[in-house]
Amino acid sequence: MSSESATKPRRPDGKRLTLRDLPEIHARDLMRDKLISIATASVDVVLGTQKTTLRLVPRQFANGGYFMFFVCDCGRWARTMRLWQGKAQCKWCIGLPDDHPPREYQVAQAQKRVEQSKRNPGIAKRKLRWAEARLKASKLGAK
Ligand SMILES: [Zn+2]
Repeated sequence: MSSESATKPRRPDGKRLTLRDLPEIHARDLMRDKLISIATASVDVVLGTQKTTLRLVPRQFANGGYFMFFVCDCGRWARTMRLWQGKAQCKWCIGLPDDHPPREYQVAQAQKRVEQSKRNPGIAKRKLRWAEARLKASKLGAK
């Protein structure tokens, strides 16, 4: 754990710094772009302006599918790594709060997924209802 977290780092605009402000890399994006596969043990990436090598480990499912995880220096597995204090780290090492995307954005994404899902629209519709309920609840809470 870093001792910096006690000082509550801020963005230039004075707002609290969150994980979303840091340069980040997602394992799923590397998968989608076919830059890594289940056999990849490490990958060279550019985070922000910094070049770094990240170790990878697969997590396999019974159906043959798999997720790739980055292995942080702390030993934890993470789907996302971010540049923090000159080093690629997992969210647990960085210790900053996560800033969830705005509720309106979540609803828009859920709507898009309902339109796109052909095989199992029931799940997408249920998630859309949840997102709408969260948006409604957040508006009630703000009053
Ligand atoms: Zn870590």
